[in-house]
Amino acid sequence: MKTDVLIIGGGLAGCATAYFLAREGIDVLLVERFDLNTQASGANAGSLHIQIPHDAFVTEGADWAREFAPTIRLMTESTKLWATIGAEIDCDLEVKITGGLLVAHTQGQMRDIGRKADIERRHGVNIEFLDRNEVRALAPYISDNVIGGAFCPDEGSANPLKATPGFAEAAMHHGARIMCNTEIVGLEDTSKGFVAQTTAGSIAARRIVNCGGADAGTVAALLGLNLPVEGHPIQVSVTEPAEALVPHLVYAAAEKLTLKQMRNGTFIIGGGWPATRRQNDNKLAVNLRSLRDNMRLALNVVPALADIHVVRSWPAIVNGTADWKPILGEVPGHAGFFMNMFPWMGFTAGPISALAVAELVMGRRPSFDLKRFSAQRYA
Ligand SMILES: Cc1cc2nc3c(=O)[nH]c(=O)nc-3n(C[C@H](O)[C@H](O)[C@H](O)COP(=O)(O)OP(=O)(O)OC[C@H]3O[C@@H](n4cnc5c(N)ncnc54)[C@H](O)[C@@H]3O)c2cc1C
Repeated sequence: MKTDVLIIGGGLAGCATAYFLAREGIDVLLVERFDLNTQASGANAGSLHIQIPHDAFVTEGADWAREFAPTIRLMTESTKLWATIGAEIDCDLEVKITGGLLVAHTQGQMRDIGRKADIERRHGVNIEFLDRNEVRALAPYISDNVIGGAFCPDEGSANPLKATPGFAEAAMHHGARIMCNTEIVGLEDTSKGFVAQTTAGSIAARRIVNCGGADAGTVAALLGLNLPVEGHPIQVSVTEPAEALVPHLVYAAAEKLTLKQMRNGTFIIGGGWPATRRQNDNKLAVNLRSLRDNMRLALNVVPALADIHVVRSWPAIVNGTADWKPILGEVPGHAGFFMNMFPWMGFTAGPISALAVAELVMGRRPSFDLKRFSAQRYA
């Protein structure tokens, strides 16, 4: 089998990259070892983030946040693209940009929010500092013990069950081919391009885009590259549907929390709490302590959730890097081999990362300069 561009991985990164290439008439073959959207892209919480994650700011510190902060612009641009791309691919992605509200229960948390907001504002984030009364006025559903917070009007949510399939459909509409249940098990860089060994035979490709998510490091290692991509088991929960109550994406400075109400009335509650690997078979499982602490925190922020049942919790692996920065673009010294790996918040950044990487693959100037996210930093 032959293709111009081989895309490895059928999550959001892979399917969106396939779309942005195929719409320009590029010959694309996407290979996925399972089915499309079965890993992080289909299991995530659907938040569209712009603010620096508060828990990371507290644990990693202000120097880390300053280093990370340029990544925010990529997420801001991606959120703008989320708002328009659904119409282009003819798919209702349930995008809702109603703002993200980070709330504090203590003066210490307010000070941390203020220090973080200073960094965010320097990187173009539209962020308002709110006192207790302003929080009440904006979000009457918030607990009385909240003393203030910060609001970013440009944040929101989209539906992870719709995004990747939507991009895949649109890519196929433009001629992209997709092979599922096929794993890439070997890669060779020959003088005439790449040869990929798969569980269904070999594929010759002029260029490759590695969209392997948490396994992007393993895929890169097939070419002898050492890219320290991490995979962490985390979990999310969904409630039964309820009357419209919470229009915003809500975070807490106290601990890990993301909470939002979807169009169908259900609440998605997460924030990156660890899931478990079962000892007997190494399979992922929900961690009950994480579930309890996550729900306790949610109730401490939105007390009305006490009357609403959680109906399902699920674990999945999130792709990570130690510095939280993405690995995007052509790998130096490996002409024709591109990375599209956005860690931790790759749902938010999926559309713009895919567009910019696709533009680089086509030899065009990218809509967003990806130089600072190059794999070069690991050389
Ligand atoms: C529980 C959870 C909640 C999250 N919440 C949010 C959120 O609210 N907002 C946000 O912005 N981000 C969130 N994320 C992160 C986000 O989901 C991911 O960063 C993003 O989906 C990564 O997309 P991807 O396409 O790179 O990876 P994936 O969706 O993991 O896709 C990679 C694909 O590559 C395939 N693959 C790997 N190796 C091979 C191989 N050798 N051959 C063939 N195929 C291969 C895999 O099977 C997989 O399907 C969350 C993640 C998790 C797990």
